Parts: sequence; C-alpha cells; structure tokens
Amino acid sequence: MKITLDADKCCAAGQCVLVAPEVFDQRDEDGVVVLLDAEPPAAQHAAVREAAAICPAAVIEVQE
Ligand code: SF4
Repeated sequence: MKITLDADKCCAAGQCVLVAPEVFDQRDEDGVVVLLDAEPPAAQHAAVREAAAICPAAVIEVQE
C-alpha cells in the first residue's frame, strides 16, 4: 500500500487522524494533514482505507 496526499485540498477536518492516528497527523498551526507513514504496515491498511473513504475533501489517495 502506498498513500499520497493532496494537502492543498485538505479542509483540516481531522477525520483521517481519528481513524488512523498512526498514519496521519495534523499540523499544529492550521490542522492540515501530515502523512506520518506513506507505506504503512498491513495492520494499518483497513484504517487507511476507511480514512480515505471518509475524508470530506477526497485528499487521501491509496494505491494497493
Ligand atoms: S480527513 Fe481529509 S480533509 Fe480532514 S484532515 Fe484528513 S486529509 Fe484533511
């Protein structure tokens, strides 16, 4: 799994961080998403897929 982000579109909703806190974080100053692990281990894959699905701005792209 490989994750890419279009952080310019991020509306700082924080849904991704709630669902997959080991993979996503938010910048302290404005809440924009930060990718902690672009190639997360298998144990994180379900959470990453859920984060991509619920992100309101469709920022998170996942390649399997
Ligand atoms: S869920 Fe989407 S819009 Fe919200 S912080 Fe994460 S990447 Fe940004």
